[in-house]
Amino acid sequence: MDASRTLRGIADRVGRWPVGRVRRASQLLSSLVSLAIGVRFALWAEQVSSGNLHPSVSRPAGVEGWLPISALVSLRHWIATGEYNLARPAGLAIFLTILGVSLLFKKGFCGWLCPIGFLTELLGAAGRWALGRNLKPPKALDYPLRSLKYLLLGFFLLAILGMDGRATTAFVYGDYNAVADILMLRFFTRISPTALGVLLFLAGAAFFVRGFWCRYLCPYGALLGILGLASPTRIVRRGESCIACRKCSRACPAGIPVDRVAEVRSDECIGCLDCVAACPVRPTLEVSVVRRRWTVKPVWWGLALMATFWGALLLIRAFGPWQSSIPNERVAGIMADVRAGRVPSH
Ligand code: SF4
Ligand code: SF4
Repeated sequence: MDASRTLRGIADRVGRWPVGRVRRASQLLSSLVSLAIGVRFALWAEQVSSGNLHPSVSRPAGVEGWLPISALVSLRHWIATGEYNLARPAGLAIFLTILGVSLLFKKGFCGWLCPIGFLTELLGAAGRWALGRNLKPPKALDYPLRSLKYLLLGFFLLAILGMDGRATTAFVYGDYNAVADILMLRFFTRISPTALGVLLFLAGAAFFVRGFWCRYLCPYGALLGILGLASPTRIVRRGESCIACRKCSRACPAGIPVDRVAEVRSDECIGCLDCVAACPVRPTLEVSVVRRRWTVKPVWWGLALMATFWGALLLIRAFGPWQSSIPNERVAGIMADVRAGRVPSH
């Protein structure tokens, strides 16, 4: 009896934590994990690329989370051949985990875990701090711009889902995929003036326009948004207690008119819960699960999202295929070719 009361007390106390701060902590944690993986990977890549077959650090498989195209081809390969490839197993595991999280928690990966989303939000916040507000493209421009990410997604899906088993096998076990992570690193460490210009443009656009990259250009986010439509969770609004202050809509980074809908069904909703936190009349906005049958405290929803993502990855890392089967000798050989000016084949 005492134990259950204690547990309920803890659950209540946790439920009162400010959801905005918990989300920021989640984004920070995820970004720091990515940074640690990036530093370790750079150390490994530098040594193996220069021919050291016994580097001082091992390759962190989590870097494959940054290779979504490779993961999508791996998924197509699995469907076409029935083989879960061991060349990039972590990439496929991370990709499937993110898809699963989106089916349960909408596009919550974007709002709670994605380091690029976090960086985009920070740039937008810096813009608001410096200019007093972010710019908002007019609706006539906003709608066509938003469709860009779906066009990019359609392009990748058409190209990759159209591959047969032979084509996916050639890609998955090909030289290009074996060093795709190192080539991605070199893209940033030896960046061309054109690529630098594009990155600076995107950073500048995110400074002026809130969530520019996520809202208009990210095909990964577009895919998660479509899957998120099947999620059993929704933000719901109780019209009877709503005082029409519009604070929810003003807080929404996705520009959703929360104050005018009974429930948020938009594929643009990143599950950030900023609208819920901004609402001055509690409980007017709530997180509901399974068609308004249950409501969940916002913090608990976010914690469940984080636990699902990190828990699934830790389990796969411990018990499933995780480390790449590509030996350092092969990577070193391909990178020697790259240094000699030869482009690795697909
Ligand atoms: S509707 Fe609410 S949870 Fe969804 S993006 Fe807007 S503020 Fe975030
Ligand atoms: S912030 Fe709350 S009270 Fe204000 S408009 Fe939105 S739902 Fe209604």
